[in-house]
Parts: sequence; structure tokens; C-alpha cells
Amino acid sequence: MKIHNFSAGPCILPKEVLLKASEAVMDFNGSGLSLIEISHRSKDFVAVMENARSLALELLDLTDKGYQALFLHGGASLEFLMVAYNLLENKAGYLNTGTWSDKAIKEAKLFGDVVEVGSSKDENFKYIPKGYSVPDGLDYLHITSNNTIFGTQFKKFPKTDAPLVCDMSSDIFSRSLDFSQFDLIYAGAQKNMGPAGVTLVVVKEDILGKVSRKIPSMLDYKVHISKDSMFNTPPVFPVYTSMLTLEWLKNLGGIAAIEEINEKKARLLYSEIDLNPVFEGYANIEDRSLMNATFNLTDESLKTTFENMLKEAGINGLNGHRSVGGYRASMYNALSLESVGVLVDVMSEMERKG
Ligand SMILES: *Cc1c(COP(=O)(O)O)cnc(C)c1O
Repeated sequence: MKIHNFSAGPCILPKEVLLKASEAVMDFNGSGLSLIEISHRSKDFVAVMENARSLALELLDLTDKGYQALFLHGGASLEFLMVAYNLLENKAGYLNTGTWSDKAIKEAKLFGDVVEVGSSKDENFKYIPKGYSVPDGLDYLHITSNNTIFGTQFKKFPKTDAPLVCDMSSDIFSRSLDFSQFDLIYAGAQKNMGPAGVTLVVVKEDILGKVSRKIPSMLDYKVHISKDSMFNTPPVFPVYTSMLTLEWLKNLGGIAAIEEINEKKARLLYSEIDLNPVFEGYANIEDRSLMNATFNLTDESLKTTFENMLKEAGINGLNGHRSVGGYRASMYNALSLESVGVLVDVMSEMERKG
């Protein structure tokens, strides 16, 4: 039976990427050696790193615009503190839109003052704050573009003179944006790009080198840039797999092409959520995420029936995060429209039964 993988992360990757990655584990580029048993300084792997870095910039349309792409260790969670270590001298602004921004704020407070410019905590992060004003004199403003747990997503981004930093872990490469409005973007790979273990950081070089503190080498973006993202042994398998996903996306037609499919998937599911009385959406309609759709049953007594039907249809990974409950359908780039169709069929079947 075909399994439809709606997992929030780690999550679905394109089948052809998994196939190529597994081949490289056995025999990399016909060398008779595994990708994971050769030197990361070998010509073949250096080419992988260079290709991954340039593909990332190319897809975001940031080539030759003063940005550098890095593939680092430590997940998005390390970036919570690395951003502050490298950029926070006095005061930074944060928009608090959920668990991940909350965690980023906690780390930043170790390095300087944090102003919560806006927050949607009062309604358990159902919406994206609006109408806030960004104070002057910030070292940077930090936002989380897509709130994986609550299912909200920024549609418009704050305007500020300060560098704009964005945790894009769960929606990078999923929709067309003017990426040059951001000065630093970071994303754990395991949602739209590859296996856990590597984080993409895209940083505009001219925002670096402005804090007075000493920064340990491994946490210093400038060190990683000067070493072409090879300061120490990179996570070779996650980098290689990410490169394959970026190639897959490029061959598909890039971000604009995947965005069209992502919008179709989201429209299909949200219209079912809105029209079917058995379900109700969690997030504010205007702030809904294209990537993670959160919803609940209107009648909890239908839980077992619904979950049995999901299982029978091969639908996997639909449980909501423990802080929200209910259901969350994560529709990352590699999830097909067909899989969303299978979920929607189960949902409408629920209505007929109800
Ligand atoms: C998953 C996620 C994280 C955490 O990523 P790690 O790589 O596990 O540290 C951070 N931010 C967002 C928006 C996420 O979705």
C-alpha cells in the first residue's frame, strides 16, 4: 500500500532523491567507495559542497548579491544562539509567533536586550501579529516565516532599517519571495531539503563583524565563510542529499513551479476543512500556512473512527503537535497533490458517515 507521508519533520523527500542518495552510500560517482567513507576534502565532495551552496543561492535568486550560503551543523536550534552571538550587541527585536520564536528569544537574551515587537501568545499563536511598530536602533529584527506547530505563515514581512533575520526552516524553497529583503535566513534541512543534521544559512556578508565580543570559531559565520563552509568535517550525507533535493527542485522549474503545486495542495485541503462540518481549522484564515495545515474534529467522539480511516488509507504523520492537539497536515514540497487528495477523500467520507 502507498503511504502518504504528512509528517511535520523530519519529513517526506522526493523518491528520486532518496534513490540517488542511497546509491551514493554504496558507490559514490562510480568510485567504488561510499560517499560517507571518503575524505570531505576529496575533489568529488568539495564539488558537492560547492554545488549545494551555489544551487541554494540560485534558487533564492541571491547569486552575486553579497550573500553567502553555508551548510552548518547544529540544526536551526543552534542558529537561535549563533544569530545573537554574531549580531546582537545591544538590542534585538523579535516577533513571537510560536514555540520556535519563543526558543530563539530565550537564547538571544543570553547576549543582549530583546524587545518583543509583537506576539500572538494571547491566542496560543493562532495568528500573525499585525499593526506593530518596529522600534529604531535594533541590531536586527528576527521573525519565523512559517510556524510549523501552529500552522501560521507570514504573508507580508516587516519593514525595518535593521537587518531582517528569518527562521525559514519549514517553508524555505516553497514559495516565491523577494529573498533579498532578508539579511540572514536559516533553515534546518529536515523539512524541505534533506535529512536532519545540516542547516542552511544564507547571510549577507556586510552585516557581519559588527559586534565587539569574541566569537568562538565554530560559531563565527565569518570563519565558516572564509573556509567555504568546510571549517570542520561537514555532515556529508545530509549535504549531499540536500544538494540532490535542490537539483530536483531546479529541474522542476524552481520555486515558482513548486509554489503553484503547493498552493493547489493547500487550497484543496483548506476548502475541505472549511466546507466539512466534521472539521474546523485552527489558525486564522488569513494567516494560514501553505506548508502545515492545523485542524480539529468538531466532535471528539469521532476520533477513533477518523484515525482508523486514516490508517486504512495509508495516511501517516497527521497528529498535531502536543501543544496544539488535533491534526496537522504537513504538505512540504515533496508531498504530491494526489496524497492531499487521499486525505480529503477520507475527510469527506467522514462527513457522509457522520
Ligand atoms: C523544526 C523547526 C526548528 C528546529 O529545528 P532543529 O533543526 O531541530 O533545531 C526551528 N524552527 C522552525 C520554524 C522549525 O520548524
